[in-house]
Amino acid sequence: MERMLDTKLTIKRAAFLDRDGVINRKRPEGQYVTRWEEMQFLPGVPEAIALLTKAGFYVFAVSNQRCVTKGLLTTDELESIHARMLRELETKGAFITGVYYCPHDTEPPCGCRKPAPGMLLRAAREHEIDLKKSWMFGDSDSDIEAGRRAGCRTVRVMNGDPAGSGGADLSARTLLDAVHQVLALEG
Ligand SMILES: [Mg+2]
Ligand SMILES: [Zn+2]
Repeated sequence: MERMLDTKLTIKRAAFLDRDGVINRKRPEGQYVTRWEEMQFLPGVPEAIALLTKAGFYVFAVSNQRCVTKGLLTTDELESIHARMLRELETKGAFITGVYYCPHDTEPPCGCRKPAPGMLLRAAREHEIDLKKSWMFGDSDSDIEAGRRAGCRTVRVMNGDPAGSGGADLSARTLLDAVHQVLALEG
């Protein structure tokens, strides 16, 4: 009985975060995070994620990683970097429910590489997320487009990049700034 009520009443909303350039420092163009030592969290990120969790958002990372298909690292290596990323964030009170990545190259087209919305749709399916109540946080056009195509609202996180806000609903200097803006809007 109690469980039935729970499933009926719960509306789960998600915060989808791009990884490189939002959670961690982006490497120079054409270079990828292939070892843990290259994963550098951007300032304020654990705090931002902790705020999202506290506000009732389920946090997911959604990341294009064609370095896998290029043979620069294996899926096992990538997943172990992600496992360690989650552990490090958890020690700071920041919880990510799931990490989704697209290992494919741009050709042939797949359904998961952003700007396709596949990773967000899959997370929503697997975790019963209401996409209309959810937000995509990204630093590139493809993040914003993926979020939009999934039916989410979007925030462009600049992190020092002068690129325009690219049609996002909001634009922010950092992930922490973005989270403050979203929480102010959502009450
Ligand atoms: Mg990015
Ligand atoms: Zn893919």
